[in-house]
Amino acid sequence: MYINGEWIKTDNTLDIINPATNEIVDKVHLVDKQMTERAIQHARQAFKEWSQKTAGERAGYLRAIANKIEENKEQFARMITLEMGKSIHNARYEVQSTIDYFNWFAEEGRRVYGDTIPASDPTKRLMTIKQPIGVVAAITPWNFPLSMIARKFAPALAAGCTVILKPAPEAPLSAVKLFKVFDEVGLPSGVVNLVLGDAEEIASAFMESNDVRKITFTGSTEVGKLLIRQSADTVKKVSMELGGHAPFIVFDDADLDLAVEGLIKSKFASTGQQCVCANRVYVHESIYDEFTERLKEKVLSLKVGNGLDESNDIGAIVSEKGLEKVHHHVSDAVNKGASVICGGQRLTEGECGKGIFYAPTVLSNVNEEMVVVQEETFGPVIPLIRFSSEEEVIEKANDTNYGLASYFYTNDLGRMYRVSERLEYGMVGVNDPAPFVVQAPFGGIKESGIGREGGYQGIEEYLETKFVSVKLNRI
Ligand code: NAP
Repeated sequence: MYINGEWIKTDNTLDIINPATNEIVDKVHLVDKQMTERAIQHARQAFKEWSQKTAGERAGYLRAIANKIEENKEQFARMITLEMGKSIHNARYEVQSTIDYFNWFAEEGRRVYGDTIPASDPTKRLMTIKQPIGVVAAITPWNFPLSMIARKFAPALAAGCTVILKPAPEAPLSAVKLFKVFDEVGLPSGVVNLVLGDAEEIASAFMESNDVRKITFTGSTEVGKLLIRQSADTVKKVSMELGGHAPFIVFDDADLDLAVEGLIKSKFASTGQQCVCANRVYVHESIYDEFTERLKEKVLSLKVGNGLDESNDIGAIVSEKGLEKVHHHVSDAVNKGASVICGGQRLTEGECGKGIFYAPTVLSNVNEEMVVVQEETFGPVIPLIRFSSEEEVIEKANDTNYGLASYFYTNDLGRMYRVSERLEYGMVGVNDPAPFVVQAPFGGIKESGIGREGGYQGIEEYLETKFVSVKLNRI
């Protein structure tokens, strides 16, 4: 762990296991509540100087971080794959997006503008200034062990905040590697701090402290709700990137090959363990059979295995618990009448037998009674549901408390606008299974979150707007 510019070793360690082989990758040292409180104090102290640096100076550090990651791109990608199992192709994509976030916010930090406001009294001058919110506590999940940190740290540091990170225990090694970069580029002591240990203990140190002014969290809706409640006592600002349950709609006028290709990209990236993965697939009844056939052929051609092997398309599932949930969704659907088009079971042959692998699965004749349509699966399962009209499918797609990403395929221009406007989601991909870029706001509505990461909006989350009124002696 890393507190106030020093690497901390404790007697309490945690082994990090590669889910593709069940071998130990490395171990990390765990810290307790007291050490977390120390990190908060150092972050508070460091805030004084860091917040006073110019945006240009801070941008220099962020660009140096981006450059160092670029130099070690492949090692970062391998570390992601080793600790959480996704394919090396997906891991490389994650590293690139991490670099992009640091570069983007290095620039956005220079564009933090205030306003001048027309006064109602001629002897007054009114203005707003933007200032960094203070010490930030960040909590991140295992599914993007590097880029979820970048999405929070890059804007926070650019704004002038100092940060303490608690990563996920399944995959904290990418975070450790990133902190080595922070150390190498010479970020001043206390500006960034890394703590891992008992989540509730660490969170209680964050929540009880008046010095922590902001909680930024990516993870499940359940934990997000808990953190929102806990933040109330000290009225902290919160950003929440929570669970998703993305609908993927294929209309009868869609290009079917593009829709199949898009669905595979959206569903199987990171072995289906992404908050933005297609989770419910609605296909118009007139093209349902044709679509299912073409999808089956493509899914059967996908290769599953150790993510480090370049020839594999899909990697491991992060944990046995994750696999159990996936299989529960599949068996529940089958027990209630769904048919398995392909997949539907754990893979145990050959190298897959060493780790945690599930066959890419397509389920047909799925309906709303099944858990797979009600909850986020977080695994490589495509449930196919028939629909007959635009009105019906919009209603079904919106019939959930989640509201993160959504997708639809059509070639009708009117429909592109109509459906985009009516889908109750923070993000809509029209004929686009991967609309996520650093220059656009990422985030959800309803129970999928509060706030946005990326875009020019991303830095606002770490700023306060202060109003200043100046009364002149005379004019
Ligand atoms: P999770 O169980 O909510 O865990 C996320 C983080 O929260 C981990 O670091 C975890 O640490 C910590 N945590 C758990 N209980 C806590 C508590 N009581 N107090 C403080 N921290 C606590 O989620 P996950 O299973 O790792 O990640 C998958 C979820 O993240 C999915 O729902 C996915 O949709 C969502 N996600 C959302 C986005 C987005 O941008 N919207 C992106 C990626 C993932 P411990 O494990 O030590 O408890």
